[in-house]
Amino acid sequence: MPAKTFSDGEMVMGRWPGSHLYYEVQVTGYNKNTQLYTVKYKDGTELNLKESDIKSLNFFKTKKSSSRSGSRQRSRSRSRSPARTQTPKHSNSRGREPRKPVEKEEVQKEDISKLKPVHQVQENSTNNKTTYVTDYTEEKNKVYRLVEHKTRKEILTDQLGLPYSLQARREEAKLVDLEAKDGHLYAKKQAVQIQEQGFGARVGAAFMILLLPVVLILLLLMCAQDDPSILSFPPRIPPLQTLWNGTALGIFVLWFLFQALLYLLPIGKVIEGVPLANGKTLKYRINAFYAFLMCATAIGVALYNEVNLSYIYDYLLQLAVSAMMFAFVFSIYLYARSWRVPADELAPEGNTGSYVYDFFIGRELNPRIRNFDLKYFCELRPGLMGWVVINLGLLFAEMKVQNRDVPSLAMILVNCFQLLYVLDALWNEAGILTTMDIVHEGFGYMLAFGDLVWVPFVYSLQAFYLVNHPNELSWPLALAIIALNTVGYIIFRAANSQKNAFRRNPHDPKLAHLKTIPTATGKSLIVSGWWGFVRHPNYLGDLIMALAWSLPCGFDHILPYFYIIYFTCLLIHREARDEHQCRKKYGVAWSKYCQQVRYRIVPYVY
Ligand code: NDP
Repeated sequence: MPAKTFSDGEMVMGRWPGSHLYYEVQVTGYNKNTQLYTVKYKDGTELNLKESDIKSLNFFKTKKSSSRSGSRQRSRSRSRSPARTQTPKHSNSRGREPRKPVEKEEVQKEDISKLKPVHQVQENSTNNKTTYVTDYTEEKNKVYRLVEHKTRKEILTDQLGLPYSLQARREEAKLVDLEAKDGHLYAKKQAVQIQEQGFGARVGAAFMILLLPVVLILLLLMCAQDDPSILSFPPRIPPLQTLWNGTALGIFVLWFLFQALLYLLPIGKVIEGVPLANGKTLKYRINAFYAFLMCATAIGVALYNEVNLSYIYDYLLQLAVSAMMFAFVFSIYLYARSWRVPADELAPEGNTGSYVYDFFIGRELNPRIRNFDLKYFCELRPGLMGWVVINLGLLFAEMKVQNRDVPSLAMILVNCFQLLYVLDALWNEAGILTTMDIVHEGFGYMLAFGDLVWVPFVYSLQAFYLVNHPNELSWPLALAIIALNTVGYIIFRAANSQKNAFRRNPHDPKLAHLKTIPTATGKSLIVSGWWGFVRHPNYLGDLIMALAWSLPCGFDHILPYFYIIYFTCLLIHREARDEHQCRKKYGVAWSKYCQQVRYRIVPYVY
């Protein structure tokens, strides 16, 4: 393993991922497993960088001596490169003093509409707007610093007219101040590292690996009982051998392969995901909705040929156990293959050096077999579509068990609401490319189990409950529940669409009405519209829908409300993790956002 070149606390030049811009940063840590340095920018942003993206402070000064001897022709051609800066018009190449530094007031008087994020400034280099060169001369040095200083000020002067500076000490002071106002503790380096191992670190991860399957089995057993009240806990545990069924495993594996086949079909467009921390951008095929239509056709043909879908109900436990076994083996494969990939393709959060923790969180960020993206595939297809098929099987089972000619209104509502949710996810498949799961999370046991086991078998709990515990809904109540689901869906969809559209094209004229806070990363944060309402409006909508899915089951037992209870905990925890990531990424800009938008998920409550 190569030796560490830069030491903690050292000031160096760090490349901004995906660009050719270098900024002065401080090394705050080094992960020997990923061989990534954690560096802190002057605005508080923390990122993990490869060693090749870090240069010593005098690296560029050293380079200048060779560039000085370069011909005029050479220097002109260099400046045309998008990665290099044009010589500012005011610079004095003959060694005269550069022009007087631009005063803060002057900078702020600049047309605020011209504010451009870093990457855009870079893209416009042909228009003399790039501000950084890698080989500036001593004489030009001050001028470039001046221009860079000015541009950074532009970047960090937000559209709400709340400027903040990059001066390190003042920044720290301001950060502490902002955080204190926001009721947060300033995240010291040590605290950050502890938080890096969320879920209770390795002990918590080991516990979760064992707990998740046990909870699922207990939930299914409870739900199958005549009396599913918590007073009758624990349920009767069947002999272990009855949990295993070869046919059930075969069905699950076939389903997985069928989905993989549909994913590979060359239909649907191929689009780019968002740039990753290592600067790479991956391509994804968008055809999940077509895959769903093909599945629906296949199920229709099966039903026409009198295939008994209530088999799913009869063998739900065995199917769930099969899915668990599959997910476990699959996670071992994911963990093993992660040791063969380059360090910059690993997820920093899943590379702590603890085998158990890393197995749970996932080491590799976007594991792929050629173009087959395993995480992206599992996120939307086998589990999500499997959930719809399980619900349908339970609907048929209800009719059979309760001797009904038609399913109950409660069962229809549960099926329709959840079908809408799945169809929405598949229709908006591209939206998943900006989510935490795809951009930040490694692919390990947590996501594999979540996608392949937890989603299809726990999210169908309400339908499973209704098979044995009928609840006759009145129409007025049904209409009220439909209205609730509609409100939740509108919030959920509008918030997700707004953020996705903004992340894909922040300059979209349709989004021009939104107020934003620029950040040092070049991305902005929306501070009005849905994202100015609460910090996670999409979670709010999701939770409202979760309630609407449980209400059709009535109020006799808490079991059908397991989903919303669990989901509330999950989203609170997820919000905290996202908050931590965003605070690292955006530094002071994030603190300002939190100051503007005080509530996380539920206005005036949380
Ligand atoms: P989000 O889609 O909310 O993504 C969070 C990211 O959005 C942040 O990391 C940040 O990333 C960006 N962001 C945050 N605030 C702003 C802002 N003000 N302006 C612009 N960008 C912002 O998170 P999830 O991936 O957790 O959720 C996606 C959807 O999936 C949600 O609707 C959620 O409810 C749902 N979900 C459902 C689950 C289920 O089991 N049913 C489980 C988990 C999620 P960046 O700045 O880098 O773009």
